[in-house]
Amino acid sequence: MRKLLGVVACVVVLVVLIGLTFGPRLLEQSTNKVLEPPPYPIGEAAHKLHTQLFVADLHADPLLWNRDLLQESSYGHVDIPRLRRGGIALQVFDAVTKTPRGQNYDGNTADTDNITALAIAQLWPARTWNSLAQRALYEAEKLHDVAARSNGTFRIIRTKSDLNQLELERQDKTKHPPVTGGLLGIEGLHALEGDLHNLDVFYEAGFRIMGLTHFFDNEIGGSAHGTTRGGLSEFGRSVVRRMEGRNILVDLAHASPQVIDDVLAMATRPLVVSHTGAKGNCDNVRNISDDHLRRIAATGGVVGIGYWDAAVCDVSVSAIVRAIQYAANVAGAEHVGLGSDFDGATTTPFDTTGVAQITEGLLVAGVAEDDIAKIMGGNVLRVLRETLPDH
Ligand SMILES: [Zn+2]
Repeated sequence: MRKLLGVVACVVVLVVLIGLTFGPRLLEQSTNKVLEPPPYPIGEAAHKLHTQLFVADLHADPLLWNRDLLQESSYGHVDIPRLRRGGIALQVFDAVTKTPRGQNYDGNTADTDNITALAIAQLWPARTWNSLAQRALYEAEKLHDVAARSNGTFRIIRTKSDLNQLELERQDKTKHPPVTGGLLGIEGLHALEGDLHNLDVFYEAGFRIMGLTHFFDNEIGGSAHGTTRGGLSEFGRSVVRRMEGRNILVDLAHASPQVIDDVLAMATRPLVVSHTGAKGNCDNVRNISDDHLRRIAATGGVVGIGYWDAAVCDVSVSAIVRAIQYAANVAGAEHVGLGSDFDGATTTPFDTTGVAQITEGLLVAGVAEDDIAKIMGGNVLRVLRETLPDH
């Protein structure tokens, strides 16, 4: 009997170990997919142009997963070697802290959470198991650790001078490998746990762009996918004021239309929608209206166009190019950028090594090279130059 119990215990331990080793990996492989595996060949003219550009992507979620981002992975969308090969100069890495079970675009409550199980299954530190703020901080620590181990090939951008330095080094084409920049973001300020002081804690951890809501209504205001579609709360107003005061970019992705109106009414600095589509091109609740596109442009901000089906109504390079052209026609080419949502439970036409296909698509569609340079990253660079803190 004792022997049998010993065997059973061994089998249980083995199953748990295998589950912990392969579970998150299998989950990610089934969650973040590409339509076509690499490589993603492009023509000579597009390649030449792409290598001259400062390419920036406003939103990706690899920090949610346990991959070592210094290692090139055969699954998922983003890691440092693949960013380098894709010619990406600056990637926003978002910390996701809570997502509802049965997540959908039409209506979610805050009652359930997938990330708790994911944090435990991936053996994140126990402090992250029941604290959203600690999850955000841990995800930031993971990126700081990547930077520390990168031999100077990957750097987290916190200030204007960090950005200047990155830009200068990227212009020096003799430097191999070129340095890649990362900007820390938070997807949904339920991560504050209702405490404004945590905004300062997040700032100190390096976060410089924050989305107000994610898939459910929170203390700040209504989500585009919540149950109330409400506006900014009083607390939300003080959060936005404090963000502007601390040079943190306000990201309106996933916000309810009413929250977008309320923020537009009070904003004094450029606003961003990090990853979205345009309703006029692809009509659903995930995407923003022409009116919001124009008014966000009027703040001097930028709207990142996503690569997944609900953002552009197909999974293809031509659909992404069409959505970008639509947004540029409405808002102006000075206010459109890239917002892949790579590694955010999406299926995309390519991983980040294929982003030059967008450059090629825009070129083939007859978009002027100047405008392509702005859309592929120049606009994000401009907004960050204006909004990042000096020191
Ligand atoms: Zn998102």
